[in-house]
Amino acid sequence: MKPIVLITGASYGIGEAIAYTFAAAGYRLSICCNRSGERLADVAAQIQSQYQTDVLTYVGDVGDFSFVQEMAKDTLTRFGQIDVLINNAGIAHIGLLTDMSVEEWNHLVAVNLSSVFHTCKCIVPSMVQRHQGKIINISSVWGNVGASCEVAYSACKGGINSFTKALGKELAPSNIQVNAIACGCIDTRMNACLEKEDIAQLCEEIPAGRFGRPDEVAALALSLATGNDYLNGQVITLDGGWV
Ligand code: NAP
Repeated sequence: MKPIVLITGASYGIGEAIAYTFAAAGYRLSICCNRSGERLADVAAQIQSQYQTDVLTYVGDVGDFSFVQEMAKDTLTRFGQIDVLINNAGIAHIGLLTDMSVEEWNHLVAVNLSSVFHTCKCIVPSMVQRHQGKIINISSVWGNVGASCEVAYSACKGGINSFTKALGKELAPSNIQVNAIACGCIDTRMNACLEKEDIAQLCEEIPAGRFGRPDEVAALALSLATGNDYLNGQVITLDGGWV
């Protein structure tokens, strides 16, 4: 039986790369996004034809508990189990904290942090029952050190880091490993707002001299999913030596 991975936010960027990498490694996929249903369907069709594997797709907001509940229930009904959960969906918000509205704050926290609670609440019980599972949270270096003009985003990613460490301890006796990848600058749509000069300046600051690639994050996610069961509750920084 092929193992199953559920990936949030797989229509673009890191999530899309993770979907391809896991399909190539023999996984069946359950993937979702919020606003790019057509693009998600294209990703699913491409993966299905390239890797002859099953792909379930869902369109909705991971910040909405009822959407996540439906997605998890349907995936578990149709696939029977979820071996790996990858919490990747996320959005950025750049600006002074005092300019942020309460609605923007609540939305960011729902999508970037509460979503991780939602998926874990719905999927962990089935992992505990099987006494096996891997949870991988896609975090950010800003969750480690904080960023000016990204206070809410940093708070969410810092929350994910602590969530990862705490849940790793809680689930280790059930043979479930929870780890996070704290990404530096990765070349995706999320950074499309950066001007050429900003990118050049960032590349000068990053010891590796360049942004990371989505497939490099995906390769680390796969190694966490398939690797050492004794590695638990860790936040692994992937940033070219930057922060
Ligand atoms: P991206 O290219 O913008 O992709 C984000 C993905 O998340 C898309 O598939 C998007 O789908 C989905 N998504 C957004 N809001 C959602 C929601 N409410 N419900 C369900 N899906 C949603 O960004 P990315 O760079 O790949 O980011 C992926 C993760 O990496 C995020 O958690 C981000 O914080 C983290 N990260 C990225 C970087 C970086 O430099 N790129 C650095 C550190 C951490 P729709 O467009 O359809 O909504």
